[in-house]
Amino acid sequence: MTPSDKKVSVNGKTYNWPKKTSVIICLDGSEPGPKGYVDTAIQMGLMPFMKSMISKSTYEIGKCAMPSFTNVNNMSIVTGSTPDVHGICGNFFLDPELGTETLMNDDSFLRTNTIFEAFEKAGAKVAVITAKDKLRKLLGKNLKKAICFSSEKADIANMKDNRIDNVLDLVKKPLPEVYSSDLSEFIFAAGVEIIKKEKVDLMYLSTTDYIQHKCAPGSEIANNFYHMIDGYLKQLYDLGCEISFTADHGMKGKTNEDGSLNVIYLQDELDSKFGKDACNVVCTITDPYVVHHGAFGSFVTIYCLDKSKIEEVMLFLKTIEGVDLVLNHKDSVETLHQPEDRIGDIVFTSNEKFAIGKKKTDHDLTKLKEPLRTHGGRGESDIPIFVSKKLNEKYKSKGELKNYDIFDLALNYG
Ligand SMILES: [Zn+2]
Repeated sequence: MTPSDKKVSVNGKTYNWPKKTSVIICLDGSEPGPKGYVDTAIQMGLMPFMKSMISKSTYEIGKCAMPSFTNVNNMSIVTGSTPDVHGICGNFFLDPELGTETLMNDDSFLRTNTIFEAFEKAGAKVAVITAKDKLRKLLGKNLKKAICFSSEKADIANMKDNRIDNVLDLVKKPLPEVYSSDLSEFIFAAGVEIIKKEKVDLMYLSTTDYIQHKCAPGSEIANNFYHMIDGYLKQLYDLGCEISFTADHGMKGKTNEDGSLNVIYLQDELDSKFGKDACNVVCTITDPYVVHHGAFGSFVTIYCLDKSKIEEVMLFLKTIEGVDLVLNHKDSVETLHQPEDRIGDIVFTSNEKFAIGKKKTDHDLTKLKEPLRTHGGRGESDIPIFVSKKLNEKYKSKGELKNYDIFDLALNYG
């Protein structure tokens, strides 16, 4: 069997061996569509490579997994599955045994294997580069030979932990700041240098949505960012790679024209209606890096102290301005594919104009320097799907495309 005849199966899907280096990119927070980041930059003449590819590629809008959060969807993309399978349903969950809010950034929380691990075991050379180290730990689960590092900690990448060293010398760039577009640019620059140096079968690049939280499509900063990306896409393509990209989620503004915020302080609402501590709102977007979104998202899960009150609480939640979904535990597991032991009694999401906070006193608005833009709900679940070749028409029979189909699309419909 030649390597090109090999197939790799994981999580119920089978993938063809990449015919050439397959670079799969998660462009964090890339709201798609005619008014989205990529299309706006193309229309303004800032993504000449993407413009040149439109007629000879596959470019569509698909959906992400819910909640439309970063780690949830990165894990969906790299496992080809939904949160009920891989277990990552937010940055936090309420540990039912400990009763405490627990950060899910350790790979022990990931319940299934990644596509990378399966390809590595089959003998493929895999490289994974992401922005933040918290995500690197999840993406790198069980990898023994693959290059896997974060641009945040590129300076301390080493052979033992990351299978690469001297990254700053290789990339010829200084260590980027955590809150910067450089953090994402470094990922692309490193990807290009690694591919120049060695044969890679599968590469995954996952950027950060710092720019998208700050800036709307068409703004100068966003345009500069996508122009930069276009240059690297061209370099990778010219090196002979096949390029595919999607996003973990979209991004929507949550501020009115007068500058006022559309935020539902859900813990305050529930405390005043049902009494203090009758309900516990868990904002699962909360993480140690909150400067750019103030820990506001569009998805929360709620635990009720008195389970007989769940129906009553749900009826009240449906009356709140800005609500989108109110689902009980069973329906959130069935329709949103949530892991049943990591989700509360109720899931509450806001519509695309609103964000959700816990208590007004819990959120430090002084840290929020720009109008609030965030994600988490169905309003931010549209994502781009791009593959740098015309796919075999059979892919259309899949119906609605998902970001967690991207490896399948890139490898199986050539
Ligand atoms: Zn994200």
